[in-house]
Amino acid sequence: MAVRAATKTKSKPKKRATRTRSRATSAPKKSARPSSDLQKYRELLLAEKARLEAELREIDNRTARLSESERASELSSYEDHPADLASETFEREKDLAIGESVESLLNQVNNALEKIERGTFGICDACGRPIKKARLQAMPFATLCVSCQGQLER
Ligand SMILES: [Zn+2]
Repeated sequence: MAVRAATKTKSKPKKRATRTRSRATSAPKKSARPSSDLQKYRELLLAEKARLEAELREIDNRTARLSESERASELSSYEDHPADLASETFEREKDLAIGESVESLLNQVNNALEKIERGTFGICDACGRPIKKARLQAMPFATLCVSCQGQLER
């Protein structure tokens, strides 16, 4: 074993050793990892924001179309089609509910983006403790930790 170690040292010329060392100092630092994580969350949040805004616009368009057709139907006799009226009312109520949840989700996304800017991303709004990474990966817009969110919903 001692022989092998000796040959290994001998086979490495001194010049090469210095070169490897100088290259090692210029290697990227390990501390760069958290900010790249943040960058990843920011991208996820921006994509989610775009998606939610598109969804809201679509709901707005549909609601506008529905109330227009409702106004038109008040002039003509709608009694022949009570099922249509019922389904349209249902559709509009559903859109309202979806719109509300989309808006609140959009608020959360905007909050999380603000927290990235302020450097408080990943910290619970209520108790100030760090939010678990698994939770952030599943929903990067989470602004509360699991236990605070649970208390809120109870
Ligand atoms: Zn909390």
